[in-house]
Amino acid sequence: MSSAITMQNHQLNTPDHPQIPFIQGDGIGPEIWQAAQKVFDAAVQKAYAGARSVDWLPLSAGEAAFAETGEWLPQATLSALKSHLVAIKGPLTTPVGEGHRSINVTLRQTLDLYACFRPVQYFKGVPAPVVHPELVDIDVFRENTEDIYAGIDVSAGTPEAKAWLALLAEQGQADKVRFPDTSAFAIKPVSQQGSARLVHAAIEHAIKHDRHIVTLVHKGNIMKQTEGGFKRWGYEEAETNFADQTFTMHQYDDIKKTDGADAADQALAGAKAAGKIIVNDIICDNCFQQTLLHPDHFEVLATMNLNGDYLSDALAAQVGGIGIAPGANINYESGQAIFEATHGTAPQFAGKDLLNPTSIILSGAMMFDYIGWGEAADLIRSGIAEAIQSQHVTQDFATSDAATVLGTQGFGSYVAEHL
Ligand code: NAD
Repeated sequence: MSSAITMQNHQLNTPDHPQIPFIQGDGIGPEIWQAAQKVFDAAVQKAYAGARSVDWLPLSAGEAAFAETGEWLPQATLSALKSHLVAIKGPLTTPVGEGHRSINVTLRQTLDLYACFRPVQYFKGVPAPVVHPELVDIDVFRENTEDIYAGIDVSAGTPEAKAWLALLAEQGQADKVRFPDTSAFAIKPVSQQGSARLVHAAIEHAIKHDRHIVTLVHKGNIMKQTEGGFKRWGYEEAETNFADQTFTMHQYDDIKKTDGADAADQALAGAKAAGKIIVNDIICDNCFQQTLLHPDHFEVLATMNLNGDYLSDALAAQVGGIGIAPGANINYESGQAIFEATHGTAPQFAGKDLLNPTSIILSGAMMFDYIGWGEAADLIRSGIAEAIQSQHVTQDFATSDAATVLGTQGFGSYVAEHL
């Protein structure tokens, strides 16, 4: 009998036969899911020889749900996601500039999945646009519920826009709006709690995975209160809740001010020698430059929502494209998590059995790690690595005539058979 994964005393409780919901998604979603499920079932079977298995529970969302029920995200789907705690999903369509709100954003906000975790690493054999993609091994923690993505977004000329303009006028800020009559507006909420819990998750991850640098990414030189707040609250979180495990560049600057540069350098060297995690920060535009020029200077990035969206795709491109980058949206307090393919629905390729299912397959490996089934996760990652190295790949990864080009299903089957 299968049952749901639960959270007790801040610990996930995974039964041997969990029921795990999945949303296939739109566009290429169903075909990448089909390929991935084969790999997941084969990995679990190989790792646990029947002592453990997953009972996959299909849930409906997106275009399929809309066609059936008239709702993009049915209540029954939301309830099942809540009651099962851990789920996996394919991509879902979001219209640009019109139509329904992003289902992905709604899921993240409704379930308070505040950390978007995207590990970016290179698999040997993947065609990559940079000379040394193997230097990239960066875990991105992106805040998922605040910032300009909060969805407080009003159209130009509406009563809401006029009311906001009136408020700005009251506060003496109306002249900062260049074209008041034709301006749309959005609000960027960034809180101490929201910033601190994200940075907390990034530091905990660094501690658990033996990583030694956590970098806070922000544009605090321009947006001093919101982005600057993220930096300040991030440093505060490190210094308050991880005082023994971290040394921050904020502390470094304080020592430098009072005792001089040599004392600060000594304190930093001492912290490194003691194995402490160094928490530093970087302005986001420079971060794009430095992660491209010197990716090996970075280990864990803690970013706000918008910067993190851009950065995680840019980093994924550096190691061979978002077609294979995995991701997860997690609330570490409630345990609620949704693992997902990070690419979109690629509608022009739907039903063609052409595109790469690796993103959702590696997201599944992350999910197995998360629920404590590390053996299955490792098998999946080594199966993917073997397929790519031996050039049994989908067309996007075929780098030579010697490659065996497989369809989406063929690739899934190959990996499932070579775990
Ligand atoms: P997309 O990721 O769907 O496609 C862009 C291009 O990336 C494709 O043309 C293809 O060349 C390549 N690509 C994507 N997935 C691939 C794969 N698995 N293997 C190989 N190549 C792959 O992005 P888009 O065209 O901007 O968006 C299409 C739709 O997807 C939109 O409705 C968008 O809102 C949605 N979307 C959803 C998610 C999500 O659900 N998490 C993420 C991004 C975009």
